[in-house]
Amino acid sequence: MSGPVDLRSDTVTQPTEGMRAAMVAAPLGDDVFGDDPSVNALQEKIASMLGFEAALFVPTGTQSNLCGILSHCQRGDEYIVGQMQHSYRWEGGGAAVFGSVQPQPLDHQPDGTLALADIEAAIKPDDPHFARSRLLALENTLGGKLLPFAYVEQATAMAKDKGLARHLDGARLFNAAVAQAAATGGNARTEARRIAQCFDSVSVCFSKGLGAPVGSTLCGSREFIARARRVRKMAGGAMRQAGVLAAAASYALDHHIDRLADDHALARRLAQGLAGIDGLQVEAPQTNILFVDLKGAARDRSAAFLKHLAEQGVRSTGLYRLRFVTHLDVDAAGVDRAVAAIRGFFGS
Ligand SMILES: *Cc1c(COP(=O)(O)O)cnc(C)c1O
Repeated sequence: MSGPVDLRSDTVTQPTEGMRAAMVAAPLGDDVFGDDPSVNALQEKIASMLGFEAALFVPTGTQSNLCGILSHCQRGDEYIVGQMQHSYRWEGGGAAVFGSVQPQPLDHQPDGTLALADIEAAIKPDDPHFARSRLLALENTLGGKLLPFAYVEQATAMAKDKGLARHLDGARLFNAAVAQAAATGGNARTEARRIAQCFDSVSVCFSKGLGAPVGSTLCGSREFIARARRVRKMAGGAMRQAGVLAAAASYALDHHIDRLADDHALARRLAQGLAGIDGLQVEAPQTNILFVDLKGAARDRSAAFLKHLAEQGVRSTGLYRLRFVTHLDVDAAGVDRAVAAIRGFFGS
């Protein structure tokens, strides 16, 4: 393998032969009329897998979070969210722009969690001075970090106790589940369901590590999903013969969950390969995302370093804090080439 090693994101994967065959063979209908059999099959599959009554197929994770937040919250409501969560930081402020839902962002702890005391302190009393605290939104994995399951249970139990709804941005829920299964000796599907069942709604992306070209699903109660369907329509996300995409997502659920462990192993291989290089601080990856900070003199050489990586065909994101993401379309040889390119620059 000598093409570029694209570690920018796990979104860059190409559908496999098997996935393409499933897409070609998918029976199609018109999902706006609710009669696309492949969309319906996907929605039923993910809902029953995660223990929900219903699910909704949407084009993107951004739209899935938007449908989720706007189905939980009215104008003037507030959702409590982490500063670094996608649904707050990386979605153009959609919940505020389209829904007049006010975010209440909180700082993260080093492990990615939101401190229970901070959540509790952010919940406003019923008083006309305040927005109505309505929803707690968490993300798992967050920047590749697995939220400790005991924490997820505690935070969501507290939110429920305080009358808040709970939404999970589980774009990488199955990465979390695979990492959790590795730690508990359990099964990834069981762990995914255990995490999901702490929430009233869960969004899952198929276009990340699961390797499908397009699509996410939002899961929740039947009544919640009926509201989300209306938001999806308003957002322009109601698609017609969407089964051609849903078939890829179904294929991913059948074939690409357990193999996420390979991506996690490759992220560790990359971290090990970069260990001990002067000027690089390498975070131990918990799943498929590796952050590497340039320190001291290496920081001043950032532009030259990025140019070198580009010339060597190694792609990442970031300037001083580089992000490398492993996925279906990188293998050990690719990771080793990335290590060699980086070591080559630092002369070690
Ligand atoms: C990628 C991602 C999304 C949204 O994805 P798009 O499909 O690009 O809109 C949402 N949440 C998290 C955590 C993500 O990583």
